Amino acid sequence: SLLLDGKVAVITGGAGLNGLGFATARMLAAQGARIALLDLEQANPAAAAAELGPQHIGLVANVTDKAACDAAAAEIVKRLGRIDVLVNNAGITQPRKTLDITSADYDAVLDVSLRGTLFMSQAVIPTMQAQKSGSIVCISSVSAQRGGGILGGPHYSAAKAGVLGLAKAMAREFGADNIRVNCITPGLIATDINKGKIPEDKRAAILDGIPLGRIGEPSDVGGCIVFLASDLSKYCTGITLDVNGGMLIH
Ligand code: NAD
Repeated sequence: SLLLDGKVAVITGGAGLNGLGFATARMLAAQGARIALLDLEQANPAAAAAELGPQHIGLVANVTDKAACDAAAAEIVKRLGRIDVLVNNAGITQPRKTLDITSADYDAVLDVSLRGTLFMSQAVIPTMQAQKSGSIVCISSVSAQRGGGILGGPHYSAAKAGVLGLAKAMAREFGADNIRVNCITPGLIATDINKGKIPEDKRAAILDGIPLGRIGEPSDVGGCIVFLASDLSKYCTGITLDVNGGMLIH
């Protein structure tokens, strides 16, 4: 039988067809989950959900807006009946050096990854508590662990490190409700976030630092999210799963 039969999975930032979120949506749906894709209006989440099939929904929800997160969660419960899985995937990055980070840059990057992870988790946890089960998967980054990935600035590392702390603290707080909270730290994965931004002359050096010898693809992350979303990982909470081809082994 399928791993996620009868389950409902919510994915923030899930509407970009080339992104980690949408690849994950496809893989969760293939395991029987009904999906709610949340994203900004310009990403057209309803159209992306239609690509998955008629049983899935897409909603406009900016994760930095608490009222929008709460409204989206209520709408999902109304239309799909429950919430079993939340993937906190929405995130943005900026290539900045420390001395160039403006207040607006800081707010933009921290708000989507860190505030958004808090607000969407707050929006779904009461439903998961009532169900006495849930799995929240937060997308951090290798950048949080090694102090900079390849493209993001220090404020991105900080935002993603903040996600690790927030997720671990929530794992402790909600274990008694049978709500698991885990993180994934992707390495370099080919999506729109870095498309055309890896200089050709740096490519060989980057690949040289990756034992598996290739840049990741969205399904590399999606497979690990299926694991964390499903009962295969039912005794895992507060963990950080590295999905980086060996770029950081620690
Ligand atoms: P992406 O740009 O394709 O996906 C990000 C999605 O988030 C987009 O669909 C975007 O519209 C959405 N989004 C942005 N701001 C939002 C907001 N305020 N509210 C709701 N949605 C919003 O890039 P991706 O690579 O698929 O990134 C997915 C996640 O993975 C991000 O958190 C990113 O930081 C993280 N990550 C990516 C890599 C990589 O190499 N691609 C590595 C480590 C971590």
